[in-house]
Amino acid sequence: MTERIVVGAALVDGGRLLAARRSAPAELAGRWELPGGKVETGETPEAALVRELREELGVSARPGERVPGQWPLRAPFVLQVWTARLLPGSAAPAPLEDHDALRWLAPAEIWDVPWLDQDVPAVERAVAHLGMG
Ligand code: C5P
Repeated sequence: MTERIVVGAALVDGGRLLAARRSAPAELAGRWELPGGKVETGETPEAALVRELREELGVSARPGERVPGQWPLRAPFVLQVWTARLLPGSAAPAPLEDHDALRWLAPAEIWDVPWLDQDVPAVERAVAHLGMG
């Protein structure tokens, strides 16, 4: 089966990392993730990241670098992570679609939320990559 990429955003502002609490589906509700979603056919991961952040959070963001690594989700999906920043003039993030809470986590707070199991190694790598560890 062809691997399908889910992009996650390590969105950073003012030295804090954005975490989003899922409201659906039921088995993921209440757990926290890096916001993002599935890359559509013909779309680059970076474009998907920008689209998903607009749809889910109402923000204008620009992707930065890919965080090295790739983490398995339910087959055929794999999670890849890019750093991202808000563009000047972007709205503040709001939980518009799949989430019911957002938190900007300072470095000392990164592990204060119950991340989705599959996001934990991705968050570890992102935090190290961003020098927030
Ligand atoms: O947000 P969306 O439903 O498009 O995400 C696709 C799937 O990827 C979700 O079902 C979720 O399980 C998974 N996902 C994840 N970690 C993320 C983003 C999405 O496990 N940071």
